[in-house]
Amino acid sequence: MEEKIWDRICGKLRNTLPSHIYHSLVEGTAFNENDAGDFELDFTDNFSKEHFEQKCLPALQDVLSQLKLSNRPLTLKVSSETNPREAQYEFNLPRRNPFDSKYTFETFVIGGSNQFAHAACQAVSKQPGLCYNPLFIFGGAGLGKTHLLRAIGYELFQADKGQKILFLTSESFTNELIQAIRVDRMKEFREKYRTGCDVLLLDDIHFLAGKERTQEEFFYTFNYLHEARKQIVITSDRYPKDIQGLENRLQTRFEWGLVADVQPPEIETRIAILKNKAEIDQIQLPDDVAEYIASHITTNIRELEGSLHRLQAYALLTSVPISLELAHQTLKDIAPKIKHELTADAVLKLVSLQFGVRTTDLKSDKRIRKLSLPRQICMYLLRKHLVMSFPEIGKFMGGKDHSTVMHAVTKIAELQRTDPEILNYTATIEGLIR
Ligand code: ADP
Ligand code: MG
Repeated sequence: MEEKIWDRICGKLRNTLPSHIYHSLVEGTAFNENDAGDFELDFTDNFSKEHFEQKCLPALQDVLSQLKLSNRPLTLKVSSETNPREAQYEFNLPRRNPFDSKYTFETFVIGGSNQFAHAACQAVSKQPGLCYNPLFIFGGAGLGKTHLLRAIGYELFQADKGQKILFLTSESFTNELIQAIRVDRMKEFREKYRTGCDVLLLDDIHFLAGKERTQEEFFYTFNYLHEARKQIVITSDRYPKDIQGLENRLQTRFEWGLVADVQPPEIETRIAILKNKAEIDQIQLPDDVAEYIASHITTNIRELEGSLHRLQAYALLTSVPISLELAHQTLKDIAPKIKHELTADAVLKLVSLQFGVRTTDLKSDKRIRKLSLPRQICMYLLRKHLVMSFPEIGKFMGGKDHSTVMHAVTKIAELQRTDPEILNYTATIEGLIR
């Protein structure tokens, strides 16, 4: 099946692409169709992938639409790199916003602690490169810095001005640089971050502390982009001058534009964030419970959300509504002792909460990436914790074939060993089950 589709695609590509491009970029690229029906192209390194994107992707998209296959999600990925997950880009035809709609200005609750940073980010997203450049956001962990950075990316992408937006962590930047040096591709690296970039959203710059070579490269990147009036937004856990091991010339430059901080939110904001979150996730959260959680968790919004989810999970597992009493128990960490019997529905619900997708979608046949991973994780957990048979799981998951279930269970078991992110997902859910 795979062979045939790819053969047909190649046949057409051969006729449209210059032959040297076809030979160097299409031949030798691994094509897969995963069980959700998504197409995947596997590249040996980032640079062939990027060249492919530039030189072949438009032609491929044409071919897919000629073959009436444009509705299938297409992923280009690099399989042998140190950081494959970061290097993945998803394409959907027509192109959809690659930024998560969970992290937008709309879902960001404004309070005295963050309104300045919020306003600065909004201004930048309306007129990138024109008002504050660079914009430097700093503040403690879990206070919304990455959320704001993504919101800028989301907004810019929605505005659809065709800008090239690069959003990445400083760690990825460093890894890419190391890789580029290793395989002698500095030219391509520089092209990507200079001419190939209109807006640079760089998360957690404090990671560059002590990394001199990366700092030097970033210094030139910064200068190039700044001179070209391309917007740069940077986040950090500290004020520029307080980042030890960061070159002076960078510290100074970071203060050229606007420096804005995010502070721990006031109790009113914490309550508002909880209520907002509860509404998005359709959780019934009584006022007294929101106040109780907000008064106990004061410094980190990620933890605030975490406790809400824990509470929700226990309410679900014990089949009791969320109440002040349950909140007392879960926040005091005695909840694991609450007795409950695990059901398939509860597992399904927990997976849906963890991934922010609907249970009906998990049971559906919809072949989109956003659903296929949670669906497979759900099957895996049902097998492991409820010891259901493959056909039973298939039936529960909306009538899937037992071989599909078997494939999913084996795949997730394998991924747990090789992919820390997957392990993290399953561990979080399993932490709630036990
Ligand atoms: P940081 O990057 O500062 O460590 P994040 O941006 O990752 O923090 O935020 C942690 C979590 O808290 C995210 O899920 C984010 O959506 C949420 N969050 C932070 N600030 C707000 C806010 N003002 N309104 C709504 N959610 C928020
Ligand atoms: Mg962050």
